[in-house]
Amino acid sequence: WRRLTEGLSRTSSALTTGITDLFTKRKLDAGTLEDLEDILIQADLGLATSAKIARAVGDGRYDKQIEPAEVKAILAREVETILTPVALPLAIDATKKPFVLLMVGVNGSGKTTTIGKLAAKFRAEGKSVMLAAGDTFRAAAIEQLRVWGERTGAEVVFGQQGADAAGLAFEALQKAKANGTDVLLVDTAGRLQNKQGLMDELAKVVRVIRKQDPSAPHAALLVLDATVGQNAISQVEAFRETAGVTGLVMTKLDGTARGGILVALAAQFGLPVHFIGVGESVEDLEPFSARDFARAVAG
Ligand code: GDP
Repeated sequence: WRRLTEGLSRTSSALTTGITDLFTKRKLDAGTLEDLEDILIQADLGLATSAKIARAVGDGRYDKQIEPAEVKAILAREVETILTPVALPLAIDATKKPFVLLMVGVNGSGKTTTIGKLAAKFRAEGKSVMLAAGDTFRAAAIEQLRVWGERTGAEVVFGQQGADAAGLAFEALQKAKANGTDVLLVDTAGRLQNKQGLMDELAKVVRVIRKQDPSAPHAALLVLDATVGQNAISQVEAFRETAGVTGLVMTKLDGTARGGILVALAAQFGLPVHFIGVGESVEDLEPFSARDFARAVAG
């Protein structure tokens, strides 16, 4: 809880300072509600959600004095209501050997770090883990994954820089099957020469995995960097279909006042949110809880 509240402190203070300033010794009217809506939009909650929350605050309270604490409580309640349907744990089906987890996202989103954190978590649960270094476009990504493999005791399947990513995924899946590995995490490129090239490659990786196991990938997680704010929306739109995204991980919530984007995404797409990243170290990956997140951002 401390890690979460500390991690979300920038988003939370942007919201709560604004709310306290706005409602201290002021009556609630159209003007204050409009200002409240602006504060919520600034925190990246999105236009529709911000309007909805402002309406909920105004409901039955016009021309009355309202305490900032009451506004924060309504905010927490509304945010929790929006987030509850998407706050779903990532279920690893133990009958799948391996459970294939495809990891997608643009470069710099924290994808490799998240793979490392997940590998550590699965290892701590006693699962055997294999990592496929499918971002063959970047030598640094392959190296980074090998370091995570060493650190967590996960086997890493990798090839040369520039090797065929789909071929590598195929080889890793074959190996994981032969070894009876519990979880196979497949890294993918986050940038190629162009967006179409990237999407074509992702589609090919998915196809090749499916050929070997029609039920796989069993989950495809899109890793999103919270600091990009509204840009996260176009990233979901770009990856959702091609990669068959089944859930989201939002990283870097600790470094930003724009954590409200998670609420906007939940309202717009309804995709499950499994984890949030609140720091760079291996323990800074939290299972996503609607109630805790709502309470942490609303102060
Ligand atoms: P990739 O290009 O998507 O694989 O991104 P990386 O995993 O290499 O991460 C890019 C940078 O973001 C690295 O410096 C990470 O340490 C950092 N990072 C990843 N997740 C988080 C997080 O939750 N919080 C913070 N503050 N930094 C993070």
